[in-house]
Amino acid sequence: MAFEFTSIESIPAIVANLRKEFNSGLTKDLGFRKQQLKNLQRFCEENTKLLCEALWKDLRKHEMECNVGEISPIVDECKFMIKNLDAFTKPIQTSKRFLMNAADKTFIRKEAKGVILIMGAWNYPVNLLLMPVVGAIAAGNCIVLKPSEVSQHTNELMATLLPKYLDPRAYTVVSGSVPETTAVLGWLQCAIRRDIYTNISDYYTLENRFDHIFYTGNGQVGKIVMTAAAKHLTPVTLELGGKSPAFVTEDADTCVAPDYVLCAKNKVEQLLEAFRKTVVEYYGPDPKKSASYGRIVNTRQFDRLQGLLDGCDPAQIVIGGETDREHLYIAPTIVSPVDPNTHILMQQEIFGPILPIIPVENMNEAMDIVNARDQPLALYVFASAKYNYNNILDHTSSGGVLINDVLMHLQELSLPFGGVGSSGTGSYHGEKSFETFTHLRSTMVKDLKSEPVISVRYPPYNLDKGKV
Ligand code: NAD
Repeated sequence: MAFEFTSIESIPAIVANLRKEFNSGLTKDLGFRKQQLKNLQRFCEENTKLLCEALWKDLRKHEMECNVGEISPIVDECKFMIKNLDAFTKPIQTSKRFLMNAADKTFIRKEAKGVILIMGAWNYPVNLLLMPVVGAIAAGNCIVLKPSEVSQHTNELMATLLPKYLDPRAYTVVSGSVPETTAVLGWLQCAIRRDIYTNISDYYTLENRFDHIFYTGNGQVGKIVMTAAAKHLTPVTLELGGKSPAFVTEDADTCVAPDYVLCAKNKVEQLLEAFRKTVVEYYGPDPKKSASYGRIVNTRQFDRLQGLLDGCDPAQIVIGGETDREHLYIAPTIVSPVDPNTHILMQQEIFGPILPIIPVENMNEAMDIVNARDQPLALYVFASAKYNYNNILDHTSSGGVLINDVLMHLQELSLPFGGVGSSGTGSYHGEKSFETFTHLRSTMVKDLKSEPVISVRYPPYNLDKGKV
């Protein structure tokens, strides 16, 4: 039977049922949470082959990349949460500071927030969906999981297989594109998308209240999500993007880098040479034939990237530039030199295998270029001297930072991962994920024996009453 998206009509009942289950206490039980985490781990372990096949079909991701970047981190995170759940959920005793409460008990309960909506993006469709799910399960919540429909094979696998592992009373996968997601987000969005809802006008009254929305994707949709959340004052975590720079200082060794490179002028030739060598070393003389080189996810993204390449002066395309729409292939491409103020590649996040290089006189100029833009999600510095990278850290801002490498900081689950400003709000991974989906409920138990002493607080007020 052909795979179908979740019917819009069923969405309000899905959310209502999850709320009923949450209120019943089902997901608050520690044994239940641990079992679900074990099940999620088993989902990854038993279906590695199927997940890798789906990721290959969606993005031509090599099995090695699937294991390292998508599946193993989830297994690792499940194990971490199972091991630490007793400690994480323990109430925190506080040291009292107000004399009148000296005899009382004060502590902070770690409580589940309630019903959570988690929306994933297509470029790491397993990791970006399931990593926050681990934290949300551990914290005792019910969850609506919304995989990205763009990576369609992975989406299908999530929708059909996950319910066989995770208790469907507490966790539901809703699959769909804009209309379904709009319906999940609630009536406000339905009202905005009148064009989509012409046949189901009564859906203006959808009321899906979530207790937290966790969204990964682009900033435009991030704004839609935040607007929908504001309707119910729902807290959000937004894992967004932006143009993440890589600084290559005068004293740097070489790199393979993210959205754009700010390179000391006297290093540019050396860097280009290193890129040329590395592309051949990694993918052979024709990357199109390499099983280790991915493809663009769909024609929409391909056409956007092709448009960017078409806007480049051909003389600036110093490495790669070959494209093939039928096979959604774009060669690893370096464009240099690029003007940070006027070049087409600097007008939007590239999010594809095209890397512009901006030669700079010095790192002060590089920092000015970065600081004139939105704060990036990641910032990379390639430098040998501690002074050089500390200087850049002290005078810039970004969600996270990594010195002398790329991407590895997100694999390190002991570090909270998230953006700042337009690259996102909130963070997760490891213990931070547990905190993100947990409400810290301040609790005090009064010792009534102290009542005679503290009764000075009652009227009629008398300044002498409290004096000793
Ligand atoms: P996407 O198209 O998969 O969309 C993400 C989610 O938003 C999907 O679940 C999708 O169904 C939903 N969505 C799309 N349009 C919507 C709409 N109009 N209303 C409601 N929901 C809608 O992913 P994308 O946004 O193309 O992802 C790429 C972006 O995500 C880039 O900007 C990238 O930098 C960013 N990103 C950030 C992280 C991070 O961890 N911070 C990770 C990956 C990608």
